[in-house]
Amino acid sequence: MTTRFSFDLNATDGAARTGVMHTPRGDIRTPAFMPVGTAATVKAMMPESVAATGADILLGNTYHLMLRPTAERIANLGGLHKFMNWDKPILTDSGGFQVMSLADLRKLTENGVTFKSHIDGSKHMLSPERSMEIQKLLGSDIVMCFDECPALPADRDRIAESMRLSMRWAQRSRDAFGDRPGHALFGIQQGGLEQDFREESAKALINVGFDGYAVGGLAVGEGQEAMFGCLDFATDMLPTDKPRYLMGVGKPDDIVGAVKRGIDMMDCVLPSRSGRTGQGFTRHGVVNMKNARHADDPRPLDEACTCPACRNYSRAYLHHVFKSQEMISGMLLTWHNLHYFQQIMGEMRDAIAAGTFAAWEAGFHAGRAQGDIDPL
Ligand SMILES: [Zn+2]
Repeated sequence: MTTRFSFDLNATDGAARTGVMHTPRGDIRTPAFMPVGTAATVKAMMPESVAATGADILLGNTYHLMLRPTAERIANLGGLHKFMNWDKPILTDSGGFQVMSLADLRKLTENGVTFKSHIDGSKHMLSPERSMEIQKLLGSDIVMCFDECPALPADRDRIAESMRLSMRWAQRSRDAFGDRPGHALFGIQQGGLEQDFREESAKALINVGFDGYAVGGLAVGEGQEAMFGCLDFATDMLPTDKPRYLMGVGKPDDIVGAVKRGIDMMDCVLPSRSGRTGQGFTRHGVVNMKNARHADDPRPLDEACTCPACRNYSRAYLHHVFKSQEMISGMLLTWHNLHYFQQIMGEMRDAIAAGTFAAWEAGFHAGRAQGDIDPL
């Protein structure tokens, strides 16, 4: 097993790519989908179940963990992997995105952000240096730069000002991260939907030098068409020999479109959050278990799926436990959704390696046109 972080790009098909990130905690096959373990748990899932769905890596949230139970407490208990019983790689975000969304509870300066906890109102500070310290205490394998990102739409001046601040913070993050063999630091491209700002941001990051590059500031309300339009030029600006990460994405068709445009990694709460509200993602779209039409249906949620929820339970049962507010409802649907997302990723990796991504994508969209879905 390797002692350093590295990335092998194994095949491309159009702009789509497949490869492997190597870390001391194991390999990450790309394109990769990262389930979100906000509070040191992927909600409703045991860690071994998350691994069984095919996940090579999880995402942890700096903001939530620094407030509760605190990064220092986790470090004293042996780090986040041991704390949450997950021995594969973990990527942590920088806390920036959550802090920025606190709106009137935060104060932004050149140095960083001071904010009040949403839990108890206590005062905290995040800066590039503090974010690097927290992610080190957690023992994160892939560390994200501390950045700022405006909600879209925003005017060009605001986007430029924010992007340039994030680039100064990227340099400070790099300096504070130092040399940590086996751990990776990713820079985050900003610049809204503006091609010139994305270019300026990419150049600034490449000048600093990172182990991977995220496309940040998307999936913040701009819509899929605008996001794809931005990815069409944004990924081309990033080095081909480093992994590219699209943060906070997304629905299955967002993921497929992002992979098509050269993205290697994504994360989203959608499969787990939707699982807890009775929604199951399938080849045909979303099936809503709260819908009364499932009450007498002996069929599985998705006949083609091999997850435990589909192998062992009927739609009638899934409907019943959802209506009864039984915990197993969220457990089964979350498992199914994570399994489905990982299945798509695996199929895309295989298709890219075989040079058949376009045909796979056509089949993906054709399957979604066939129906047996519920209105939301
Ligand atoms: Zn299933």
